[in-house]
Amino acid sequence: MVQDTEISYDVIVVGGGNAAMCAALAARESGRRVLLIEKASPEDRGGNCPYTGGGFRFTHNGAKDLEPLLADPSTLHRLGEAVGPYTAQDYRADMLSRTAGLTDPDLLRALISRSYDTVLWMAQKGIRFELSGSAQAAALTPGTRVGVSAVGSGPGLINMHYDAARRHGVDVVYRTKMLELIRNPQGAVTGLVVEDPDGVQRLRAGGVVLACGGFEANPQMRGDHLGGHWTRAKVRGSRHNTGDGHRAAMAIGAGAAGQWDGCHGSPIDLHAPDTGSPDSVDRLPRRSYHYGVMLNLMGQRFVDEGSDLPLNNFVIMGDAILQQPEGTAFQVFDAKTQELLEPRYGSAAAVTAGSVPELAQRLGLNPQAVEDTISQFNDSVQEGTFNPAALDGKSTAGLTPPKSNWAQTIDAPPFSAYRVTGAITYTFGGLKINPGAQVLDTHGAPIPGLYAAGEIVGGFFYHDSLRASGLMHGSVFGRIAGANAARP
Ligand SMILES: Cc1cc2nc3c(=O)[nH]c(=O)nc-3n(C[C@H](O)[C@H](O)[C@H](O)COP(=O)(O)OP(=O)(O)OC[C@H]3O[C@@H](n4cnc5c(N)ncnc54)[C@H](O)[C@@H]3O)c2cc1C
Repeated sequence: MVQDTEISYDVIVVGGGNAAMCAALAARESGRRVLLIEKASPEDRGGNCPYTGGGFRFTHNGAKDLEPLLADPSTLHRLGEAVGPYTAQDYRADMLSRTAGLTDPDLLRALISRSYDTVLWMAQKGIRFELSGSAQAAALTPGTRVGVSAVGSGPGLINMHYDAARRHGVDVVYRTKMLELIRNPQGAVTGLVVEDPDGVQRLRAGGVVLACGGFEANPQMRGDHLGGHWTRAKVRGSRHNTGDGHRAAMAIGAGAAGQWDGCHGSPIDLHAPDTGSPDSVDRLPRRSYHYGVMLNLMGQRFVDEGSDLPLNNFVIMGDAILQQPEGTAFQVFDAKTQELLEPRYGSAAAVTAGSVPELAQRLGLNPQAVEDTISQFNDSVQEGTFNPAALDGKSTAGLTPPKSNWAQTIDAPPFSAYRVTGAITYTFGGLKINPGAQVLDTHGAPIPGLYAAGEIVGGFFYHDSLRASGLMHGSVFGRIAGANAARP
C-alpha cells in the first residue's frame, strides 16, 4: 500500500552520484530545503562515480586557471609554463571526433561554456583536485593541455561530495528507491513514490531532479536496447543503475534522446565479478589484444585485433567478444609479445603451453581448429617493422578478418592465453533535456518541475565517449538542474 506522508521538500534529487550531488548543492544555494534520495546503502553509495579515476575535462587558459582548483598548487609551479590552454575549440573538436559529430550541439555548447566555471564552483564547495596522474607526466612536454582529478580519485570525489552536502545542509536518505513520478492535473511533477525499508510512500516536491544514472545494470533493458548479446555482459560499475529514472520519466511522457543502442564497454577478465567492485575495477580490463589474436570457442578469429590503438577501439572489442558463442574469447600471445601486455594482466593466471595444439587442449578447444587458424594467420603476415607503440601498418594479406597493424607470427613458445568476456561501463541513451536541464516531453516541450542530469541524459555520447567528460557533463547539468529546480 502506498502511504501519503507529510514529507515535503522544495527540491528532491534522485540519485547519489556526482550529478546528484552537484544538483543538491546548487539547489541549496538559494536556501531551499533539499532532500537527496540514494537507492544504495552508505557502503555502496555514489553509483558509478567511485569506479572512476575522478577526472574532469574543462576549458582553461593554462596554469593560472588551474591554480585555484588545486589542493596543492606546488605541483603546478613545478610544471610552470609547460601547461598550455585547452580551448573551447579543442573541447568541441575532441568531443565530436569521438562521437561521429553527433553530440547534441546545444548541450555541447552549454557543457563547454560552463565547464571551467563549474569545476571552480566545485572547488569552492570543498571538492579538492590535483593534476591528473597522466597529465603530470604529459605536462613535461611543453604545450600539453592538462586536466584535474579529484583527490583520492572516484572514491575521494564521492566522499568529498557527501561531506560537502552535510556541511551545506542537504538531507540525505539511503536505501530509498524512486519508483514513480507524481504529476498534478496540469501535468507538472509535484513529487514521487519511493520505496524505503519502511515501505512505499509518496513524497512531495516543488521540483524533482533525476540523476539516477544509466541502465547498464539492467540485463533486460540491455537486451532490449543494446542487443541480446549484451544481456550476458559483466557490469563494471554500480549494480544500482537499472534505468529506473528512464522508465519513470518516460511513463509520464518524457522524450528519449541519444544513442539508445550504444554504450561504453571493454574486454574484461572472464572471472570479473558480475557487477563492479571498486578494488578490482582497474585490474580486470584486458586491452592488449592488439599484440596477439583473439579466438572464440570454435578456435576461430572473429575481429581485426589491430584495427586501431586499443584506446580507440576497446569499446568495439567488448561488443565483438560478447557476440561470440557464450560471449567469450581467448586472447592468445606468444613469447615475443608477452612482455608488452599491460601489467594488469598479472591479476589473472595465464594458461600457458609449449605448442599451439597443447595450448588449445588446455583451453578446451579443438587443437586442429586452433592450429589451422594460427597457421593461416602466420602465413598471411606481411613483412614490416613491428612498433608496439604506434599504428605500424604491419598487417596480414588475404585473411578474413584481417589484422591491420601489429601482425606478427605467433610461433615463439611459450604460448599464453587469457579468457575474456565483454563488460559494460555505462549506457549512452537517455532522456531528452534542454540546456536548462529541463526534461522535454516527446513533443519537445519542458515537463514542468522535472529536471535531469548525468548519465541518465541522452545526447552527449554516440559510438564512443570522451574521457573525463562524463563526470564533467554531470556536474555542469547537475548544477544547472539544481539551480533551476530551486526557483520558486
Ligand atoms: C569503471 C568506470 C570508469 C569510468 N571512468 C570515467 C572517467 O574516467 N571519467 C568520466 O568522466 N567518467 C567515467 N565513468 C563514467 C562515470 O562514472 C559517469 O559519467 C558518472 O558517474 C555519472 O554520474 P551520475 O551521477 O549521472 O551517475 P552515477 O554516479 O552512476 O550515480 C547514479 C546514482 O543513482 C542511484 N540510483 C539509481 N536508481 C535509483 C533510484 N531508483 N532511486 C534512487 N537512486 C537511484 C544510484 O545508486 C547512484 O547513486 C566511468 C564509469 C565506470 C563504471
